Amino acid sequence: MEKAYDPKLTEDKIYELWEKSGFFNPDNLPKKTLNGGKPFTIIMPPTNANGNLHAGHALVMTIEDIMTRYKRMRGYKALWLPGLDHAGFETQVVYEKKLEKEGRSRFQVPKEQLYKEIWDFTQENKKNIENQVRKMGSSCDWSREKFTLDPEIVETVYATFEKLKKDGLIYRGKKIINWCPKHQTSLSDLETADAEKEDKFYYLKYGPFTIATARPETKFGDKYVVMHPKDKRYSQYKDGQKINLEWINGPITATVIKDEAIDMEFGTGVMTITPWHDAVDFEIAERHNLEKEQIIDFQGRLLPIAGEFSGMKILEARPKIIEKLSTKGLVEKVEENYKHIVKTCYKCGTLIEPQIKEQWFLKMKPLAEPAIKAIKSGKIKFIPEHYKKIALHWLNNILDWPLSRQIVWGIPIPGDESGDTFDTWFSSGQWPYASLGFPKSKDFKMFYPTDVMETGGDLIFFWVSRMVMFGLYNTKKVPFKTVYMHGLVLDAKGQKMSKSKGNVINPMDLIEKYGTDALRMNLVVGNTPGTSLPLDENKIRGYRNFANKIWNASRFVLMNLEGYDPKAKIVLNAKQKKILADLQKQVKTVTKEMDSYRFYSAAEKIYHYFWHTFCDKIIEESKKGLSPEASEKERKATQHALVEILATNLKLLHPFMPFVTEEIYQQLPIRKKKECIMIETWPSGAK
Ligand SMILES: [Zn+2]
Repeated sequence: MEKAYDPKLTEDKIYELWEKSGFFNPDNLPKKTLNGGKPFTIIMPPTNANGNLHAGHALVMTIEDIMTRYKRMRGYKALWLPGLDHAGFETQVVYEKKLEKEGRSRFQVPKEQLYKEIWDFTQENKKNIENQVRKMGSSCDWSREKFTLDPEIVETVYATFEKLKKDGLIYRGKKIINWCPKHQTSLSDLETADAEKEDKFYYLKYGPFTIATARPETKFGDKYVVMHPKDKRYSQYKDGQKINLEWINGPITATVIKDEAIDMEFGTGVMTITPWHDAVDFEIAERHNLEKEQIIDFQGRLLPIAGEFSGMKILEARPKIIEKLSTKGLVEKVEENYKHIVKTCYKCGTLIEPQIKEQWFLKMKPLAEPAIKAIKSGKIKFIPEHYKKIALHWLNNILDWPLSRQIVWGIPIPGDESGDTFDTWFSSGQWPYASLGFPKSKDFKMFYPTDVMETGGDLIFFWVSRMVMFGLYNTKKVPFKTVYMHGLVLDAKGQKMSKSKGNVINPMDLIEKYGTDALRMNLVVGNTPGTSLPLDENKIRGYRNFANKIWNASRFVLMNLEGYDPKAKIVLNAKQKKILADLQKQVKTVTKEMDSYRFYSAAEKIYHYFWHTFCDKIIEESKKGLSPEASEKERKATQHALVEILATNLKLLHPFMPFVTEEIYQQLPIRKKKECIMIETWPSGAK
């Protein structure tokens, strides 16, 4: 055995050994290691094929590998299915930034060429990401790897679309959508972010009324003035009454509309509406069957309806419009520093401009109902539990889902004249059954429903809830039995990592410095589900020292095995019996923690036992039993106890620190030919 442990000399070699063994593929697991052959399945959240693994991915790989390795050792047919996501809009945004840097724009590149370029870009990333997933020690079955644009996946996505259509759940509608003027696409509500903004708030004279607005540039087409039917201040005005008045570009005729959606307390209790560019106004217009006119084009410029302001960008036009209204005496007052919440594109921060656009929509309520029922009845367990409530709240208030995206990078919507693609979550939402070859494959029958979906808490709506809905809709079964939500990985100071702050930690750099096992331990110990976790280099250094400690302790044991015979009859003394009985208790406790998904606690308990009991006490005290003065009988018993304790600890540690444990196991005298610890049986103190 080498004097010191060197992860660099070990990790790639050990990973190759595992890959060659074929045991990542559950079909290859030897019968004798299986405990009845019950399947255990995790579908890896498909990594976006547009960059490198970040710290969050490292956490995903670590937790899911721990679960998989543990279940494999417990005798399950453990399948961890890896995959990559084309990640439609996300990837296109990354690629557009790349184009911008090269001085090109997506709008100048022909669609087919752009698609081809992004395809090549993702294929390059794919290889890179696969290598990084390997670096993390992930024991996933590469022979079953899937990409969301694989022909069979696209086929499943299309079949679902057709089925939804047939069931009357898909419709094409001219409805208001969130439009990003920079990215030139519609976005779902989930793809927008709220931002607080300070603007001026204008009180404008609109005939006999005063209306208040932060967006005078939308007001050109306003010809409906709306108030609450119970507002006594305006009881003399009747629904449908016409009023002639002077407006921005001359005289207009306004119509009075009474609607209960109006907040009497807000502003003056009277507002004009812009149905084309505001979701609430759109609803009012729909209810009263009012005309809708577009004021702002898709690039964010005013249309000819704005008269002299036509062609101007809205922010440029705003002060000019106010100036004109002022000279006409139509500005009553201006409130400075008006704080309000605005919707922005979650990728570029550009103000969302609501627009009416013909789109494909999916009716969500009929899909949500079975999901609500399944979650309420406990068919899906949430860890931590509060995510159940969060999911139910969202599902209970769900709105129809706009599926069309005006980007090339995605799965084309069949029969769409404008060449739109699906929202990327429409395909990833079907991932658990699509990646297993639904409906006919053997894998689908064997491994579905899957056992655990492990992912970030921020994906509860985007992804998890949609997988539940699609899973129930297509397969009549929940797609997974347990949802495990991890928190954010932060920097050492507990701050969110971001490129602009310059505090992004690259997991591959940490592996290079300290080894994968050390990084994995840092990602697990102290990490309770759902809470954020600081990535602290000092701690990782500590776990590298722990890997060395394991190595040195093992080296000590192995160097003192002269004359050791695993089959020899031995007689343990009382103290040794007590130590082994305590070890069984430790096994029992650790197993219980593993079964309850308390990996942080299991890892900590193993760490402390190894360091403070095994190294500090047991090894120290064994030195006498190994010395030349000891009797043959005494030495044999000591050797036996040490090997037993070491082997048990290596097995308990293996899911957490797979590389160092495998490397040592390969040198243990109790190892049978060609075996690896990866398929060893979990210690049996559990029973
Ligand atoms: Zn945008």
